[in-house]
Amino acid sequence: MTPAAATLVSPGRQALDSALLQLDQAADRLHLDDGLRTMLATPRRSLTVSVPVRREDGRMDVVQGFRVQHNTTRGPAKGGIRFHPSTDIHEVTALAMWMTWKCALVGIPYGGAKGGVSVDPATLTTRELERVTRRYVNEILPIIGPDKDIPAPDVGTDEQTMAWIMDTYSVNAGYPVPGVVTGKPMTLGGSLGRAGATSRGVQIATLKAMSGSPEGRTVAVQGFGKVGAPAARYLADAGCRVVGVSDATGAVVNHSGLDVADLRAWVEETGGVYGYRHADALSHEDLLELDVDVLVPAALEGAITAENASRIRARLIVEGANGPTTPEADRILADAGITVVPDILANAGGVIVSYLEWVQNLQACSWSAKEVDTRLRDLMEESFDAVAAMSAERGLSLRQAAHVIGVGRVAEAHRMRGLYP
Ligand code: GLU
Repeated sequence: MTPAAATLVSPGRQALDSALLQLDQAADRLHLDDGLRTMLATPRRSLTVSVPVRREDGRMDVVQGFRVQHNTTRGPAKGGIRFHPSTDIHEVTALAMWMTWKCALVGIPYGGAKGGVSVDPATLTTRELERVTRRYVNEILPIIGPDKDIPAPDVGTDEQTMAWIMDTYSVNAGYPVPGVVTGKPMTLGGSLGRAGATSRGVQIATLKAMSGSPEGRTVAVQGFGKVGAPAARYLADAGCRVVGVSDATGAVVNHSGLDVADLRAWVEETGGVYGYRHADALSHEDLLELDVDVLVPAALEGAITAENASRIRARLIVEGANGPTTPEADRILADAGITVVPDILANAGGVIVSYLEWVQNLQACSWSAKEVDTRLRDLMEESFDAVAAMSAERGLSLRQAAHVIGVGRVAEAHRMRGLYP
């Protein structure tokens, strides 16, 4: 493909191509027949909506919204909602497919879904954001529900967004329905431990993947946001030395180790890591290529590509983001002997605690932070061990092994249910 042609393929389409390729390879290893492959490659339900939004100056804008339910064989569809200007139906489909394998891999009774609204939340006032959220939820209302499809936070959304979703759904139902969405504030039935769950899971996966003590191991985090910033703190708490981090505003490095709490305070104050006093500035590319023990990509898809993979010097990559490594980059990293803990395993902590939140909502009860954390740790560790065992047994990378397990469980569930009519 010429460079000009390459630019015509949207990042979302590239993510979907990666997801389909991973599925195809797992299906080959599982000897799945063509019918089942096609079923697994195709979302069960895919909804595109137009979301009209009244701006503060009275104008009306229309943005696109999506909700894709990739699979519901093992349980209700589950997955976050992303607010990002470049989100499209292809990206949301890829992310929904990854949710299906993730939930199956960690053994929670859900299918996979994802939602997205092609909007930049930073350009909206809080009231505009609330209007976009409520109108989008209204448009997808017929297909979501605590037994059907349960949204959660993702890039650009947070617990306030989830509170508006819970309210919009409940007002329409005529009674409160906390179990329609996870990642809610504590006052509305949120779970202790949900806010930091993805990051805590990244920490657990990193410690499992490291041979030996974490003490003094160096870490770089790409994306010092909702997942990356707490992950940096958890890894520092475990004894690692976090030397470099980046976000949209820039990248900073301090080889003696960054004070993660102080850096977070700086980000709170200034809006980003750029200009942080106790570190040197570096480029986004250089951050990814730092000579560290662990690299945690925790931003968007397609961060590690065929173009930069050969310059990565980390020994271990733990994917906090969904789809940060392209299949071509995966091959280059494998040839270089770099271990990659794949997204569907490494960042599963979020949906695991979402599941625990939903169970608490359905039972109208609330568990202690310790209880939630123990369940999270057990599920992460068991899933990691299963992936590592499959990888060793069949000579596969951790990603290939994770997909064989995840896809295999969904395929098995399809076979047991049979085809109706
Ligand atoms: N958005 C998160 C993910 O990609 C969490 C999904 C959820 O909790 O449903 O895994």
